[in-house]
Amino acid sequence: MKIICIGRNYVKHAQELKNDIPEEPVFFMKPDSALLLGNKPFYIPDFSNDLHYEVELILKISRLGKNIEPRFAHRYYNEIGLGIDFTARDIQRKLSEKGLPWEKAKAFDSSAVLGDFVPKEELGDLADIRFSLLKNGEIVQDGHSADMIFPFDSIVAHVSKYVTLKIGDLIYTGTPAGVGPVNIDDRLEGFLAGKKMFDFMVK
Ligand code: ZN
Repeated sequence: MKIICIGRNYVKHAQELKNDIPEEPVFFMKPDSALLLGNKPFYIPDFSNDLHYEVELILKISRLGKNIEPRFAHRYYNEIGLGIDFTARDIQRKLSEKGLPWEKAKAFDSSAVLGDFVPKEELGDLADIRFSLLKNGEIVQDGHSADMIFPFDSIVAHVSKYVTLKIGDLIYTGTPAGVGPVNIDDRLEGFLAGKKMFDFMVK
């Protein structure tokens, strides 16, 4: 399986990082070795001094697809999950300044936290999903799927022009505003539509 991540999909997040609003989806990938499952602790890697959380809605691909038309895209995912795209912001900044790829900042081990999934039907209107991230009991990110620049179906259609989607692939759909650093002993809890999806410690 592979992990595809969408960058800059919320206007306020793009602004907080002083990025332009993209005209088409921006995506990058993480390897399967990036997955952190089962509420296991996240260990801050020693190569970063500015490790940021980014809470994101996640699509689980349920059907093989290539060049998917937007109007059929909803048939290619059947569950929505919640996770974190951990980012070494200091390294990302350095790489971006030089116009280099982001993998060292984004694709490292345990950088893709994966929580639980909810069947699509249980969520109803996919343009009205609320989700949040709590750090040490306080809300630090509060997202609404209606604020996505590129909604799920246009992401699936766009990505599948370039990359064949396979069953089990994951698409992290971008983070809302409020990203920030984690420190040792922080507790991170993620909620989707009022349901707890992950709960783990930073070590
Ligand atoms: Zn992200």
